[in-house]
Amino acid sequence: MPIIVNFDRPSNGNPVDHATDGFDPEVPYQMIPLGGTRELVVQTGDFKAELNLTIPDISSMSNFRILRQTTPNLSPLPGRGVFVRRIALPERSVVQFTLSGRAPGMTVLEARDRPGLGVPPLKPDFQLQISVKASESRRLAVCYVFDRINRDTGARLDFATHLEQVHRVFHDQANFSIVNVDGPSASTLAARTVTLNGTCGKVFNLLDNTRIGRMIDAFDAKFPGVFGRVDSVVFSIPVPLRIKTRPKVRISGFNFQARRKSSGRIFSLLLVGPSAPRPRPKEGGPRPSATRLLQKTLAHEMGHALGLAHDPAEMPPEKVGSILNPIFFQPHVHNLMFPNNFILSDRLNGAQVEIIHLKRPEFRVINF
Ligand SMILES: [Zn+2]
Repeated sequence: MPIIVNFDRPSNGNPVDHATDGFDPEVPYQMIPLGGTRELVVQTGDFKAELNLTIPDISSMSNFRILRQTTPNLSPLPGRGVFVRRIALPERSVVQFTLSGRAPGMTVLEARDRPGLGVPPLKPDFQLQISVKASESRRLAVCYVFDRINRDTGARLDFATHLEQVHRVFHDQANFSIVNVDGPSASTLAARTVTLNGTCGKVFNLLDNTRIGRMIDAFDAKFPGVFGRVDSVVFSIPVPLRIKTRPKVRISGFNFQARRKSSGRIFSLLLVGPSAPRPRPKEGGPRPSATRLLQKTLAHEMGHALGLAHDPAEMPPEKVGSILNPIFFQPHVHNLMFPNNFILSDRLNGAQVEIIHLKRPEFRVINF
């Protein structure tokens, strides 16, 4: 029976949280960039295996390489540069080949045993959904916020590197580019800053629309036209973000749109506060660095900006803070949109890749 073998499946007890190349073993699903390629490794059983792309011209197979073989192959596989839609792989072998992204759309790679000529076709042993995605991009600017209390001391976070990491998360898995329009200067004294009159307060209340409006106006006055040229502005806030009605919940990042009542003009923002310190887990294991938390927050909020909801929708209630909570051993919860920082995963699953390529997600909108 043919099976796919080239992925680090987040198996029970061993979840994997780093970004993939757009492969989701749970479906299974593979994103391929339009004009790009992805590698697949298939192991066959006691019979030859027939592989077939169901819809023509979306993808193709080429560049077959036998990695392991028990029985000598009687009929050679196609040579380099030959693109096929259908292929028979030799029995008891491990074969790697290249899938190309030829046209945007979806197709299915079906694989089934072929016991012999004259035997009616069997049910497929696997059906790999292949989704070829055209490249898309979102543009971000970065601004550091100061006030009379939290003055600019010249210290900057490394947003250029952080946003490069966010870019990789979405680019490698979904062919979606996150462009930092400020480039390396986002991490230097040349970065954009605004200094608010008065103070942000000890915490930044995300329900304080007047304060958010003042921050937007300060940015818009200092950098006219930038809001119109980018998809969102990332504001680095010097004090923790909170929602006043839920004072115990510390928010690491928040993404929304703000509509000025007087003009109807809309501004897209992504706010990040200082990373919440996290105690070392009782069960042991490393404590995530502030850098890792900030990058995860930026990528997660970018996921919201691209239309993704939390997955799972809510944090499982029992033993929430314990890594021994059984939910953490379920592979599917290891994804970027886990509701809080108990799981720090960069993975996008197949459904999430599809959603961010849908046109115009809903934004949270506030008025000021
Ligand atoms: Zn969230």
